[in-house]
Parts: sequence; C-alpha cells; structure tokens
Amino acid sequence: MIAMRGVNKWFGQMRVLADINLTVAEGEKLVICGPSGSGKSTLIRCINQLEHHQMGDIVVNGIKVDAELKTLDLVRRDIGMVFQSFNLYPHMTVLQNLMLAQVWVQGRKRRDAEEVARHYLDRVHIPEQADKFPAQLSGGQQQRVAIARALCTKPKIMLFDEPTSALDPEMIKEVLDVMTELATEGMTMICVTHEMGFARNVANRVIFMDAGRIVEQGPPAEFFSNPQSDRAKLFLSQVR
Ligand code: ATP
Ligand code: MG
Repeated sequence: MIAMRGVNKWFGQMRVLADINLTVAEGEKLVICGPSGSGKSTLIRCINQLEHHQMGDIVVNGIKVDAELKTLDLVRRDIGMVFQSFNLYPHMTVLQNLMLAQVWVQGRKRRDAEEVARHYLDRVHIPEQADKFPAQLSGGQQQRVAIARALCTKPKIMLFDEPTSALDPEMIKEVLDVMTELATEGMTMICVTHEMGFARNVANRVIFMDAGRIVEQGPPAEFFSNPQSDRAKLFLSQVR
C-alpha cells in the first residue's frame, strides 16, 4: 500500500533521507522512532508530499507520488495527518473545523458533512464539544478534534507526527487510547512517537532512524528487548 524505494532527500547540501526503502502493508501499524533530527518527520511528510524527495520512488495505493503530477490530489485524499501542534483553525468551532475540508475539498453537502463530523466527534469521545472554539478545549481534546478532522475525509492511511509530544502527561493517555482504538479497527497507521508503551502494545513493526537512515527495524518485542545497533541501545536507554 505504501512503497518507498531508494528515497533520498536533501535540504540544501544536507542529506536528510538516505536510501530509504520501506514498504507498509494495508492494516499495518508502524512506529518510527529515533533521535531528534534523524529524519522521522521528513520521511512521513514525503509520503503525502508536504516535503518533496529528489530521488527514488514513493508509491501509495498503486499511485506514484510526485510533486509534479496531478496524482498528488488523489494520493492525499487517502491520507490523513495529525501533527504535534494541533493546527486547528482558532476562529472556527470544533464542528466547523471538522466540516471545512469535507465541504470545500470533497464537495460534500453541509448536512452530510455535519453528520460525518458528529460521527467522528463521537468516536473520539467528545460529542459535547461540537460548538466550542479550540481555545476553550484542553490540549488532549484539541488533539482528538484534530484526529477526528483527519478521519472525516475517510482516509485509508493515517500519519501521526508526535501527536502527544505537546500534551501534559494526564492528557497523553486519552489521545493514545483513541489511536489504539483506530489501530484495532484496522487503520493503516504510521506513527512517529516516543511513546514506547504504545509502540509495544500497538505496533506491528518499529523503525529506528538515525541520520536519515533506517538503522534497524523489527517487531516491537524484538526491537525493545534486543536492539542491535549501539545507536538504538543508547536511544532506548534515554527514552525508557
Ligand atoms: P525531531 O525528533 O526533532 O522532530 P526529526 O527526526 O523529525 O526530528 P526532521 O524534522 O525530519 O527530523 O529533520 C531532519 C533534518 O532535516 C534535520 O537536520 C532538520 O534540521 C532538517 N530540516 C527539516 N526541515 C527542514 C527545512 N524545512 N529546511 C531545512 N532543513 C530542514
Ligand atoms: Mg519531527
């Protein structure tokens, strides 16, 4: 469903992705971890071309992803993304935030869009927050709105970039619980996260990156109990 072959990306002179080869099957849950600056965000942002790679191929659901091509719209339609900072529109209510892309990008009727929005607000367990503005919500609630918003366009793949890093500890669990539910329901997920408990419980595979490369990967039980590289050993000793 996602295939990256020989993907390279440079920012100026700096090579931030180096020969990335990665396939993600439908329904797989991947956790990407690694030190700051190792290229985790860049890797997942290349999948929906928020960043453009200069070398190699990325194929999503059979469509080659290329900044130059019209297929980009097609690919993005299947991908939802959730960021560390929730990126909600502050001047719009929760419901309006959830309806925006549905109405303006997908061309859904307002009544249908509202129904979908309320459905996903239910799914992230905050149906009562529909008419509030983002600033009136806790961080955990805002992030759940952001997840619901991504789900409203009915993506086949969800990308998460450190969705809990900006949250107070007591709110992390409510967001991870929603992500775990999503995983249980079969969503294909790629999550950049340092929540190792989540990785152990939910991921099929953990990818460890360093300096733009995938240094090692494996099932969580294997990766956590028996990391191979010194870099991964050091990293795990710091996050656990
Ligand atoms: P973090 O854990 O801190 O989020 P990361 O693994 O997500 O790190 P990236 O954000 O992918 O790392 O960054 C990889 C490298 O690319 C870093 O050295 C970063 O400074 C650089 N970089 C990222 N975005 C840009 C940009 N827009 N312009 C120039 N360099 C960038
Ligand atoms: Mg990052």
